[in-house]
Amino acid sequence: MQTHWSLVVIGAGPAGMAAALEAARHGVQPLVLDRQPEAGGQIFRSAGSAQPATVQAIGKEYAEGASLCRAFTNAPVTFLAGAEVWHIAPGRIYFSHKGQSHGITADQIILATGGMERPVPLPGWTLPGVLGAGATDILLKSAGILPEGPVVLCGNGPLLLQTVSHLLHFGVRVAGVVLTGNLSNPIKALPALPGALARPQYMAHGMGLGLNMALRTRCYPGATQLAIEKEKNNLRVSFYFAGKTRHVEGTTVLLHEGVVSESRITRLAGVRHVWNPRQRYWHAETDTWGNTCVAGLRCAGDVAGVRGAAAATARGTLAALDACYTLGKITPEQRNTFALPEQRRLRRCEAMQPFMDTVFAPRLECLQPADSAIVCRCEELTAKTLREAIMAGSYSPDGLKSQARPGMGTCQGRMCAAPVAEMIAQAHNIPLECIEPYRAQPPLFPLNFGEMASLTCPPEGL
Ligand SMILES: Cc1cc2nc3c(=O)[nH]c(=O)nc-3n(C[C@H](O)[C@H](O)[C@H](O)COP(=O)(O)OP(=O)(O)OC[C@H]3O[C@@H](n4cnc5c(N)ncnc54)[C@H](O)[C@@H]3O)c2cc1C
Repeated sequence: MQTHWSLVVIGAGPAGMAAALEAARHGVQPLVLDRQPEAGGQIFRSAGSAQPATVQAIGKEYAEGASLCRAFTNAPVTFLAGAEVWHIAPGRIYFSHKGQSHGITADQIILATGGMERPVPLPGWTLPGVLGAGATDILLKSAGILPEGPVVLCGNGPLLLQTVSHLLHFGVRVAGVVLTGNLSNPIKALPALPGALARPQYMAHGMGLGLNMALRTRCYPGATQLAIEKEKNNLRVSFYFAGKTRHVEGTTVLLHEGVVSESRITRLAGVRHVWNPRQRYWHAETDTWGNTCVAGLRCAGDVAGVRGAAAATARGTLAALDACYTLGKITPEQRNTFALPEQRRLRRCEAMQPFMDTVFAPRLECLQPADSAIVCRCEELTAKTLREAIMAGSYSPDGLKSQARPGMGTCQGRMCAAPVAEMIAQAHNIPLECIEPYRAQPPLFPLNFGEMASLTCPPEGL
């Protein structure tokens, strides 16, 4: 394996693929690493290899993604699928591939590692048959599988609308959609509506999905106090709606409370972060070219704030143009000229974001888990146990970790970081943005000793 590269792109979603394609266009042959077996990321997962009928059934955007995946596959780009990056330091990347660890260096790095569904613990969310709504999307795209139904969907966010639409399209019975967003969100979002009109087609598509859901399923908007129980062969979702406790039953329950940036890798890299107050998450801070405070490290796509696939593609292209300019492949004038259409596209996406973030803002009450909910799935710690430790004097996630062990398990705090911070903030009346998340440490994912020992050069900080 070549150990030094002029450009390494981490993540082959829309942002990473666009970055690699743009770099290749200007004579830089990048190495692209992705833990998935194929390029595509979340939204275009398996689009390059899916049957034409499946691509058509999933929709127009997926079909466009299939073209992007094919262009990526045919470009002069070195793509290493199944390569999981577990540590990153300035100019250095450590990853695992086929049971072997590798350490490589790079002049320029573009991190395009995307986001994740916001984990929101509620009683029963660890039961078999309860999944993230994104998981159904993954199953559909990668294996052509969908739950048999009836399915109950719970939560908030555009991906939830899209999942409902996919299930209905493929004939899966939807037992009910329990919507947790505040009913006042659309009114609060009205001042941001003119910005949203910068993308009229996207707005019309979103409204179509909402209308389809409202007309074809039983919806419970503004529901609170959700809990899931096993009831014979079914799962029963209980919630409070319109002054009464209600129940909906299904064989599968899909949860979704929006997509947030995955910030563990950017923390590990030493990048500065900014707080999104509407959506309550941290993301990498970048300039318009994706530059972070770490020299030679750019971030593109959802890792630098969730904006969707069109913005991710634009941001990937811009980051690659700037990297090519830094590598001396294009002049600043060429960079600026090539950037113009992408900057226009990005401006339209950015203009729309305040509206989207406000309409789909999470209800604060949902983010505070009920006492009986398991918050740390790895260590099986309930909210009650953690609240007791917090009240006994834990003021930070790392402090709580040493007191009660949340975040010590195999997921390394990926699932409990946000709820733990929310609980500490509420218990001690501290603004959430003042709470430092768990410190990210290598390896980001479980790695056996043999795999770690197979490294040819020792990682920095280990
Ligand atoms: C579960 C999920 C499902 C989604 N489904 C949809 C959808 O159906 N429709 C829609 O409009 N939007 C969807 N979104 C949002 C959409 O994916 C994004 O807005 C957009 O596509 C972001 O593109 P990206 O390139 O920034 O990241 P992504 O598409 O998330 O790609 C990031 C890539 O980085 C790789 N990666 C991450 N960490 C590492 C690592 N440590 N080592 C190696 N590789 C790594 C991942 O495997 C992935 O391929 C979804 C988001 C999520 C989280």
